[in-house]
Amino acid sequence: MKISIVGAGISGLATAQAVLARKPDAEIVIFESEQRIGGKVWTERRSGGYLCEGGVNGFLNKIPRTLELCDETGLTPLLSSIAAQKRYVFSRRGLHKLPEKPPEFLASRLLSVPGRLRVLYELIAGGTNNPDETLAEFGTRRLGREAFERLIDPMASGVFAGDATKLSLKSCFPRINEVETEYGSLLRGLLTLQLKARREGRADAPGPGPGGTLTSFANGMSELTDTLAEQLGSRIRPATPVQAITRSGDRYVVQLNDGGQEESDLLILAAPAHAQARMLQSFDPALSELLDGIPYPALSVCCFGYQKQHVGEVLDGFGFLVPSKEKRTVLGTIVDSNVFSGRAPEGSILLRSMVGGARTPELAKLPDEQLISLVSDDLRDILGLRAEPEFVRIFRHERAIPQYIVGHANRLEAIDDQLRRHPGLVLTGNAFKGVSLNDCVVNAYKTAGALIPDVITDQMMD
Ligand SMILES: Cc1cc2nc3c(=O)[nH]c(=O)nc-3n(C[C@H](O)[C@H](O)[C@H](O)COP(=O)(O)OP(=O)(O)OC[C@H]3O[C@@H](n4cnc5c(N)ncnc54)[C@H](O)[C@@H]3O)c2cc1C
Repeated sequence: MKISIVGAGISGLATAQAVLARKPDAEIVIFESEQRIGGKVWTERRSGGYLCEGGVNGFLNKIPRTLELCDETGLTPLLSSIAAQKRYVFSRRGLHKLPEKPPEFLASRLLSVPGRLRVLYELIAGGTNNPDETLAEFGTRRLGREAFERLIDPMASGVFAGDATKLSLKSCFPRINEVETEYGSLLRGLLTLQLKARREGRADAPGPGPGGTLTSFANGMSELTDTLAEQLGSRIRPATPVQAITRSGDRYVVQLNDGGQEESDLLILAAPAHAQARMLQSFDPALSELLDGIPYPALSVCCFGYQKQHVGEVLDGFGFLVPSKEKRTVLGTIVDSNVFSGRAPEGSILLRSMVGGARTPELAKLPDEQLISLVSDDLRDILGLRAEPEFVRIFRHERAIPQYIVGHANRLEAIDDQLRRHPGLVLTGNAFKGVSLNDCVVNAYKTAGALIPDVITDQMMD
């Protein structure tokens, strides 16, 4: 049986790895349009000793499957520093530490006193009949406008570079939706789950944050995709864009840009949804249209390096997020050199700011000089950074993170309906059921498990 995979980001690579782990003699070929393997996993070590992540910064170590993948590939994960647990929100001209525990929340000035009281009212706030609320509708209804603007809206930027007035709560954060449905209140649900975990002596009590420790590798996230690529060897065909999909009898035919073609029994598309849409345009126009409806706004990642002697310690934690109400250029900034060791040369610091996303995609497309100037303005106003960076590198993603907007769940059902007509065609990647690297890995193993079901265990499906 021959399997073609299109796209050598983490989704395509992990799917290939998962198939081979179950069926070592499977014949697999992976087509990748770029010369570089890894997709949104994109690490660069620059002369001068800076190590920049142009895309994925890390993954949370709470999902066993990604850690098992590291183990299978012989990689040693690198945990972020304890200091990185401290996160800030920039609001009303100041940085506020995100409260981690209830007493800290009550004392925090991030929200006004009425704003904090409104959050406590969440315990008795009403439900909704709306089956697909936006993050803004949900946040305002349960926690009040102020908490929405200063907590939920920046969370939408931090994870999706998204617009909270468009993103679907149940598609973006299904667990939050489930907790409300199950307990009638987020606070009550959180407290109940924490008490339960304590009673059972478990250390994984859920908190207000995403949980787990941010994890990467000594040489950055590309260590994972490079190692997978090395192990997959000549099965990967870089710089080989797939143009279209056709069928020949029971087999799928991948049409390549150079006029070549390749037949296979199973075809797994692991490219971004917009690219899948292009490939499927003639093969199944309705499916193509559904895929093309998933928005991917532009995002730029701006890495700035400074010598400490010029700037001192700029911030003692992970970094900060900026609510859209503040109308700044940066969505948020991570002090990478505080998070993982080895990201900046001795005596220097590395900052990474995100610009663009669903609310201001046009900013991501500004020329370098303008972008650098606007980001510098924000870093000066927010962190008091007056020195010029000694190092700048801008990574551009014309189409960055898929947006699970309202209607996403219905779209997925319609895609599934359409796929029933095409046995042997599988769609995977971050466009469907989770944008994080962990989600991509879990979904890759589910895909492999569905194709080769006899060896998949329930534990792997978690
Ligand atoms: C700036 C940024 C920061 C992020 N940070 C994090 C983070 O810190 N943590 C986290 O968990 N997630 C993060 N993400 C989310 C991240 O996108 C996913 O977790 C994951 O890397 C997506 O992997 P993928 O393989 O599904 O898609 P991609 O990485 O997009 O891979 C798809 C591949 O398909 C290829 N392709 C496209 N068209 C064709 C074609 N016609 N023929 C052949 N190949 C094709 C592409 O070149 C690409 O290599 C970030 C995303 C961005 C953009």
